[in-house]
Amino acid sequence: MDTVILKDIMLPDSSVADIEVKDGKIAAVTVAAGRVGNAAAGAATENAESADVAEKNAESADVAEKNAESAEAEVIDCSGKAVLPGLVNMHTHAAMSMMRGLEEDVLFHKWLDRIWDVESKIDAEYVWWATKVACIEMLRTGTTLYNNHYWFSDVAHRAALQMGIRPVESYVFLDKFDASEAQRQKEQCEKMYSKSLDWGDDAHFTVGIHSIYSVSEQTMVWAADFARRHGLKIHIHLSETEKEVRDCINEHGVSPVEYLDRLGILGPDLIAAHTLWLSDNDIALLGAHHVNCVHNINSNLKLASGYRFRYNELRDAGANVCIGTDGCASSNNLDILEALKTAAMVQKAWRKDPSAMPLDELIPIATANGARALGINTGILEVGRDADLLIIDTDNTFFLSPAPFLANLVYSAHSDCISSVMCRGRFVMRDRKIEGEKEIIAEAMSVLGRMKF
Ligand SMILES: [Zn+2]
Repeated sequence: MDTVILKDIMLPDSSVADIEVKDGKIAAVTVAAGRVGNAAAGAATENAESADVAEKNAESADVAEKNAESAEAEVIDCSGKAVLPGLVNMHTHAAMSMMRGLEEDVLFHKWLDRIWDVESKIDAEYVWWATKVACIEMLRTGTTLYNNHYWFSDVAHRAALQMGIRPVESYVFLDKFDASEAQRQKEQCEKMYSKSLDWGDDAHFTVGIHSIYSVSEQTMVWAADFARRHGLKIHIHLSETEKEVRDCINEHGVSPVEYLDRLGILGPDLIAAHTLWLSDNDIALLGAHHVNCVHNINSNLKLASGYRFRYNELRDAGANVCIGTDGCASSNNLDILEALKTAAMVQKAWRKDPSAMPLDELIPIATANGARALGINTGILEVGRDADLLIIDTDNTFFLSPAPFLANLVYSAHSDCISSVMCRGRFVMRDRKIEGEKEIIAEAMSVLGRMKF
């Protein structure tokens, strides 16, 4: 069925609307006059304050009404439920889903050496199933779009699409300063890019650079140039640890951000994961170039990389701040709502300011900002956007409060209140059920059984 009506669903501002989804897009959002959702009661109540919103949306009312009555449309009663745009995980390594907890309680560089050793043993079959496992987890926790930084891109891409989620895949450079390896990787990158052109409408491909401490200068410049010649985004780990910054200053006389600036790599097409250890000048550069900075708080905390992410300063300077989970090998899960809650609480704590990273900025960080960084038409509940939607069950203790819906969602609830997920207009999880989940976990377990991690 091409048309779905989500009837009487509560919007994030607590007004109640009918949302019409047609051909994968949001076709109408019709707020009924005077109706405001009451999550605690799961019912619509009168509220004069919603009159303005209702007026704005009145024009699309007729369209939704007609479609609701049409036999062509599936009408779903969503009373007692709320809607949110699908979450965007802006930095992850999906196939690390079966590497959780392999190396706990050690510092970043010791952890990374172990992970690289593990990754030298993986193959396409492992990536296929581990990506599917990651997708199950992402869908269960409300992610509909993710920015992946991993190997076997073509395999990972196909696995994710089969799950109905939208992946952005990369070819990741990691030459470890070896010239012949660099040459081999350039050729592979060109091949993978050509292959990605066959992905059609789903061709979201980026050029990954592991980091400044694992990729040669010449390779980084080549990779950035390749990306820009083909209109692709660049995805890198940047200023993640204090050691990275110290080593860069010792070797190049400048910080990692200044180093990338010197190489001409900063730009609005750069997605920089972590950006945790920044000077004032770094922030000015990231802001001036409108770089997309991805905060990965749980990974940073777990590896003791740090926690003073300078959110306010980056936002005010003009950077586009997004959020990610990083891979499961470091942050152990792919739950964006959990990452948001931790990020906000840590901001408040280290700044000794409870107004830091306020509630009304949290959801955009996890939705619209990510979509903007990737140039994908989603992340906002408005007509014409891709219908990547979460249906949230508010009929539970976490929402039994007169507090705003978003406060209860981020600070009280867990992601298991997400009952259904729609990606580009199609249900990919419905009433917590994902097609083939049991079989995928069984296959993944058998693949994991033969891996020698
Ligand atoms: Zn990472």
